[in-house]
Amino acid sequence: MDINCTEKELFLLKKIAHAAGELQMPCYVIGGFVRDKILGRPTKDADIVCVGDGIELAHKVAERFQPRPNVAYYKNFGTASIKVEEFEVEFVGARKESYRYHSRNPEVEPGTLEEDQLRRDFTINAMAISLNRDDYGKLVDPFNGMEDMKAGIIRTPLEPGQTFSDDPLRMLRAIRFASQLGFEIEGVTWEGICLHVDRIKIISQERITEELNKILLSPKPSVGLDLLYRAGLMHIIFPQMVDLAGAEYIDGKGHKDNFYHTLQVVDNISQHTNDLWLRWAALLHDIGKPATKKFEPGHGWTFHGHEVVGGRMVPKIFTKLKLPQNEKMRYVRKLVELHLRPISLTKENITDSAIRRLLFDAGDEMDDLMMLCSADITSKNKFKVRRYLSNFNLVRERLQEVEEKDRIRNWQPPITGEMIMEVFGLPPGKIVGEIKNAIREAILDGEIENSYDAAYSLMVKKAAEFNLQPVR
Ligand code: ATP
Repeated sequence: MDINCTEKELFLLKKIAHAAGELQMPCYVIGGFVRDKILGRPTKDADIVCVGDGIELAHKVAERFQPRPNVAYYKNFGTASIKVEEFEVEFVGARKESYRYHSRNPEVEPGTLEEDQLRRDFTINAMAISLNRDDYGKLVDPFNGMEDMKAGIIRTPLEPGQTFSDDPLRMLRAIRFASQLGFEIEGVTWEGICLHVDRIKIISQERITEELNKILLSPKPSVGLDLLYRAGLMHIIFPQMVDLAGAEYIDGKGHKDNFYHTLQVVDNISQHTNDLWLRWAALLHDIGKPATKKFEPGHGWTFHGHEVVGGRMVPKIFTKLKLPQNEKMRYVRKLVELHLRPISLTKENITDSAIRRLLFDAGDEMDDLMMLCSADITSKNKFKVRRYLSNFNLVRERLQEVEEKDRIRNWQPPITGEMIMEVFGLPPGKIVGEIKNAIREAILDGEIENSYDAAYSLMVKKAAEFNLQPVR
């Protein structure tokens, strides 16, 4: 079988082949590695299946390397792995599986290569390449995975209903591969998914979210997100997204379908960034719209405050999906909350103070916010898009000008709370906050200069309103 392995990979496969030969153990490289090599995708791990004890083989392979890699093994599962430089190799004995209804963890017993291939989820993931001396490099492809690969098709080797009911995670994997590889899910396989969506409930949230993240990181995430929606899986795993779908009409006036708008925004941003969290921000930017939707007679549909409501939803969604509750979440929330700001600037006279305020509020996230806002322009009206984009370029220029002049991004006002307390002999409290805010606002609004002296004078003036005099 001709596949484009790197020298390092070939070297590694040869060592595995020799070790297996020494043990007289039939051995194959299988699954994702074979699939990705045929597709010319990068690989960083390989699964080796042997007819025998995978742990024994792993030790034998490890012996052949200097320095000898550590063998991590799990006796209960009969699996072992070693890491050779950046490459991870997993070893497992060929196995036969049978499932029980309430769990995706099957009963496992040793089996043949054919039986092992039968337990694989898709034909394109069931191909093996021999590492045995007599037929080294031969493709073992009992389900015509190669044909499906050429045609770009995802299909289960066995009856799809059984495959998905046995392990419902495979439904998400099918959709994820469709999105990652740009493949189609074959008709009967697709019907099998649609019939078994309810079974997803036995899958842990961590695994669901892992697949969701992989879909979001795929080249065109809308493919996977739309499939999740059309299968009815989105309704179970992420109902807030489904609430965005559809357009309502009153007095002949409708609004855009915010689900498909969101998908377009995610695709747009994915052309410019591979950052998972920026893609999450795109996915969630309008999540507050259903809760704020109103029809105002004579005016039409409005979604006032959807950015604030959406921002508040971010921590709840992150908790439910078991996404990190850390600065990543705060980053997504910030972008959701600010996503209308740059575009609102293009509608008014762009004053220095409005620009300064945006730079101050966005801080380090300014460039990401601008990327999100450009991605958010999805109108079908070409003239409108052109106008928005050119206004937008104007905002960009002005941002740069003001930033160069005032260095306001990540700026801190020249007078801190501690200084105020010291000058007036105050304990921490509300008054300190009010004086501090007044200084910051006055600088951002351009009412006073961004300097220590100007800030000091304003501090004294403001403090006098509270009958305070400097004590030193
Ligand atoms: P990726 O590395 O992108 O997640 P992969 O196909 O390599 O893709 P792994 O989870 O590493 O995914 O799985 C390796 C192989 O194990 C797969 O190619 C497939 O043959 C098999 N496999 C993985 N998960 C399942 C599953 N849920 N059901 C059946 N076979 C599976």
